[in-house]
Amino acid sequence: MLVPLLGACEIATAPLPHGAERFDPPAVYAQWWSLTEQCSGITGDFANVVWYRVPSAEDLPFNGESNVGGIWYPQGDRIVLAGDEQLAGDLVRHEMLHALLESAHHPRAAFIGGCDGTVVCTGPCVTESNPAPPDPLADSVPPSALDIEITVTPSTPSSAVNDGNFMMVVTVRNNSSTPVIAALPQSGDSGPPLLYGYSYSSGSDGVEYGLRLDSPEQPRFAAHEAKHLIFDFHVVPVANDNRYEVTPGTYTFAGGYGEVAAAHTQVVVVSP
Ligand SMILES: [Zn+2]
Repeated sequence: MLVPLLGACEIATAPLPHGAERFDPPAVYAQWWSLTEQCSGITGDFANVVWYRVPSAEDLPFNGESNVGGIWYPQGDRIVLAGDEQLAGDLVRHEMLHALLESAHHPRAAFIGGCDGTVVCTGPCVTESNPAPPDPLADSVPPSALDIEITVTPSTPSSAVNDGNFMMVVTVRNNSSTPVIAALPQSGDSGPPLLYGYSYSSGSDGVEYGLRLDSPEQPRFAAHEAKHLIFDFHVVPVANDNRYEVTPGTYTFAGGYGEVAAAHTQVVVVSP
């Protein structure tokens, strides 16, 4: 299992990172903007955002501290991305949420409450504020008590569709009329439990990836609540050790939550 390398961004007033250059947002960004509007309930003009990238960069220096994949600048509504993160949808949508909120902070109701699963929120994004206490009426249940489904969309990815961008959405639903908290299995190492995961395989070759628990709210479900986690992918001729990249092939996609597999897998033909 790989773990995510990067957090997203914080406030920045300094000049743009060295080497930053403007780029025209790819078409899929409009879809990502719309997803971020939906999860946050905030609408904004996508055309207002000015996009920059630092080519070939894996991350960006930030305030002389930890490196990040993207930074939103209030002045000029600018977003700068490390070149290698340009198609990391969860990270790009994190920066879009800053732009929609017009805030460099990480209000919990938006980043974790509404948009968990649509935007990445780790590290300072989680610790900037305190979680609410859990619902005292919530029952602790095993993840197997939840409905877990996956959908790969579009169902026939190819470079000709959406520039090769596609996603697998994991939906986890509490079918109970009472609130529940999923009791996640221990990870078996010193890290937090595994939360969402995916795999795709072709014959004996396969890739698997898991996201760890980031915030205490993630295993909490209101009555009949469904949570959605988006895994973003794009088609490339040759994968370059980047978890968002998938080479053409016929794959069986699978997903899970709390180490419980989704009820169904999906066979997907990924075309060049
Ligand atoms: Zn941020």
